[in-house]
This record gives sequence, C-alpha cells and structure tokens, in this order.
Amino acid sequence: MPIRPEQRALYPADWPEISRRIREGRAGWRCECDGRCGVPHDGGRCTAVHGRPSPLTGSRVVLTVAHLDHQPANCDPANLMAACQACHLRYDADHHRRTAAATRRAAIEAAGQTTLDVRIGDT
Ligand SMILES: [Zn+2]
Ligand SMILES: [Zn+2]
Repeated sequence: MPIRPEQRALYPADWPEISRRIREGRAGWRCECDGRCGVPHDGGRCTAVHGRPSPLTGSRVVLTVAHLDHQPANCDPANLMAACQACHLRYDADHHRRTAAATRRAAIEAAGQTTLDVRIGDT
C-alpha cells in the first residue's frame, strides 16, 4: 500500500521493520484478516498468501499492514493487521464510508436539512 505523502510523517522511522515483523514473524506472510474487512472468510481467516494469486481476485497478493484504528502513529502490534490488498482496501473503505457519512450528516444538519427532510416526509 503506497503511503500518502501527508501520512508519511505520521509513520515511525522504523515502520519498515515493524511492518516486516508483523507480516513475516506474526502472520507468516498470510493475510491476518478474520473478517474485520467486513467480508466473512471461509474457515474464519483470509487465505491470501504474499506473492501467490489472491483467492479473492486472482491477482498476485502483496501483503500490507493495516492500522486497525487508522492511526499510522499507533504501531502497537495489537493495532496492526497483516492484510492482503483486497482486505486492506475493504477495511479502509469501510472506515472512509463511515467517516464520509458522519461528515455528510454533520453538513446536512448544519445546513438545516434535517428539518427539511422531516417536512418533505410529512407531506
Ligand atoms: Zn485478505
Ligand atoms: Zn478480509
């Protein structure tokens, strides 16, 4: 997963080693996702293996490390999950959707649209 420039500063200097420790030492180069990406996996855990064709997409798996709380600075192993691209993207997309929904809701409420919705609903 390419790191966005504005995010790079948030990663610790030893992130490459941390990331490798998680993927190699803990995950054994297998995706650690146990359905946290929002899609249940057969057998409970994603079967994607680094460098092999993905069981989900068929393209070569590149194992990445996801931050469960989406905070790059939080590199506690408990906050990290080795994830194939498919799981990582889904995990992040889920987060972005929730964040975007909350932002939209706030904007709608700020614009007084909630009242408008009620009025439309009443007619
Ligand atoms: Zn996976
Ligand atoms: Zn998954």
